[in-house]
Amino acid sequence: MKKRIAILGSTGSIGTQALEVIHKHPDAFSLEVISAMNNAHLLVDQARKYKPDTVIIANENLYNRVKEELANEPIKIFAGKESLSQIVESDSIDIVLNAIVGFAGLLPTISSIKAGKRVALANKEALVVGGQLIRESISVHPAAHIIPVDSEHSAIFQCLAGEGNNALEKIILTASGGPFRGKSADFLKKVKKEQALRHPNWDMGCKITIDSASLMNKGLEVIEASWLFDIPADRIEVVIHPQSIIHSMVQFEDGSIKAQLGLPDMRLPIQYAFTYPDRFSSDFPRFNFVNYPKLTFETPDLKNFRNLALAFEALEKGGNSPCILNAANEIAVSSFLKERIGFQQMSALIEHCMQQISFIKSPGLEDLLETDKETRMKAKEFISNHSFGS
Ligand code: NDP
Repeated sequence: MKKRIAILGSTGSIGTQALEVIHKHPDAFSLEVISAMNNAHLLVDQARKYKPDTVIIANENLYNRVKEELANEPIKIFAGKESLSQIVESDSIDIVLNAIVGFAGLLPTISSIKAGKRVALANKEALVVGGQLIRESISVHPAAHIIPVDSEHSAIFQCLAGEGNNALEKIILTASGGPFRGKSADFLKKVKKEQALRHPNWDMGCKITIDSASLMNKGLEVIEASWLFDIPADRIEVVIHPQSIIHSMVQFEDGSIKAQLGLPDMRLPIQYAFTYPDRFSSDFPRFNFVNYPKLTFETPDLKNFRNLALAFEALEKGGNSPCILNAANEIAVSSFLKERIGFQQMSALIEHCMQQISFIKSPGLEDLLETDKETRMKAKEFISNHSFGS
């Protein structure tokens, strides 16, 4: 039986690589759904090339354009963000790859779980914001399960395979350190978006690239790991590993450490999330130890890269704190990309929001939606009241 796959966010970095993986294995996978927010042009091209059953354009203003351009194709077309949460409930889908960026991925993740699907989860923000709700939802929808796509979490997931109930002592999340590893506060103050968008090892969407440069990506991943693997903040260690060959590690209670290695290539964790518990062959480039005589490790610089410390703080505090952190960060990143705030001012903005927005200990979905909205407003207000030169 072919696995029938929906890709939410097919026009992005993860989405396009997922299409490649599906295309390589026509006997194993069939493409049911693709979606985009604004990139109607690429969405239409993908629809013509890969012939999914359904196409969704989240921006309703672009519905007519997509419909007209696909008029000769036997493809169903829907528009609007609600369609993303509705389509994942369809009986004709086995796996939902959530490759949407940001908070917008939360509701489709929850709907996929309620519908008992396998969620191949790239959208880390969903777990950051709604980890508790997602865990509770999985416990009452046992057919549903999450297979992580984020390379670090896929690495941990692979290291844990076959370990049963063996107790984990800690998780060691590796981080490349981004383009500004080792840079001084003075240097970081003057960083321009073009520099921040140049990641040394990975080619990714803009938001995650900026998050990687500011170490917020690692902070979000710490929270993601805590929910995925049920482990508290004090048993998650972040280690800078500039070569991005070891994708992460686990340490068991007997002191043994397992790691997953490979060249940086997101197609592997995407494919594994589709095929798990099996592995399929691939022609992805292979890692050769001889080409990497030095794999190095450093402690992260929490003084100059405050975002990582803020993420640990949000995880430890719990409640709606990670939601505040995430919303403030989304505004910080988009404002940095618009050159309205400087690189290091992103942390100041996030910290301000974390101090200002009311704490809710056990937020429900409505509380999270409200916290997200309120934080975005507070962050925008803070930016307009301060003259941030970048
Ligand atoms: P991109 O920005 O490249 O792609 C995002 C996708 O989501 C696009 O298809 C975009 O459509 C769509 N989208 C954007 N906003 C919305 C919205 N509000 N509602 C519905 N769809 C939307 O991101 P990436 O592929 O880089 O990342 C996707 C997720 O995967 C992120 O959470 C990221 O952290 C995570 N991730 C990414 C990795 C990578 O290598 N890229 C690695 C590990 C995790 P459009 O093109 O029309 O804007």
